[in-house]
Amino acid sequence: MPDIVPCGSAQRELDAGELLSWFDVHGRDLPWRDAGVSAWQILVSEFMLQQTPVSRVLPIWLEWVARWPTPSATAAAGSADVLRAWGKLGYPRRAKWLHECAVVIAAEHDDVVPDDVATLLALPGIGSYTARAVACFAYRRPVPVVDTNVRRVVARAIDGVAGPGSPAPVRDEAAVAALLPDDDVAPRFSAALMELGALVCTARNPKCGVCPLSSCAWREAGYPASKAPARRVQRYAGTDRQVRGRLLDVLRESDGPVTRAQLDLAWTSDTAQRDRALDSLLVDGLVEQTSQGLFALAGEG
Ligand code: SF4
Repeated sequence: MPDIVPCGSAQRELDAGELLSWFDVHGRDLPWRDAGVSAWQILVSEFMLQQTPVSRVLPIWLEWVARWPTPSATAAAGSADVLRAWGKLGYPRRAKWLHECAVVIAAEHDDVVPDDVATLLALPGIGSYTARAVACFAYRRPVPVVDTNVRRVVARAIDGVAGPGSPAPVRDEAAVAALLPDDDVAPRFSAALMELGALVCTARNPKCGVCPLSSCAWREAGYPASKAPARRVQRYAGTDRQVRGRLLDVLRESDGPVTRAQLDLAWTSDTAQRDRALDSLLVDGLVEQTSQGLFALAGEG
């Protein structure tokens, strides 16, 4: 008997058996899913995977957990070492938060990642998604884990619309919670749902021909077009994010503090933008100014 799960008010059903059978065969062999990977190492993967493709995270994660396998090992590292190890993953504030998170876990939780959502939410840099992902994937808690991929699959298969609306965490988590099968299967079901959104029910080209779900409201309705305005594709070139990345590259590649003139060479086309980017790095605590007026990665000033 397949495990048929009713979906709240929409009266839709999602066959967990179909999804799990597909995941058994097609789920990616990602190292943070291996048996024996610690909760800390899963937490590190979740920090890195936010808005960052798996292919870019893989080599950095492998190096990171080999170098700093525990919260206390990470906490003992210098801020600058952590920022250097983060490399070009982007959104470097995540590296700073991860370091701060390690410090708190080492000092206040006996070097053990908490296993409940409320305690996880109190840690630096951990939001609703990450707290639930760690509780679910590291400790097999049957909590809803809702990322962009999950929201898209639910919008299509259950709600019959092309894509999810704006995120509404409470509503989205309730919708996914209503889909979860029995507690012992729920964590794997959550991983499978995310994987389906990442590999098959993708934003631009859903591969419905190979989708394991025999029931999909959007497909059955004839793929009605989205009524929401088309989302603009986020560009990177020329943004303040790119300028911040260039400035951090200069500091990462240097053994010590650098002059303002060295930093200025990193971005010459728009000096006001460069100044703004540098200010924001200083405000975020990723860069420090020395008493001699030089600039350094956090912890090296
Ligand atoms: S049938 Fe197509 S639209 Fe529906 S869940 Fe599968 S991939 Fe997504």
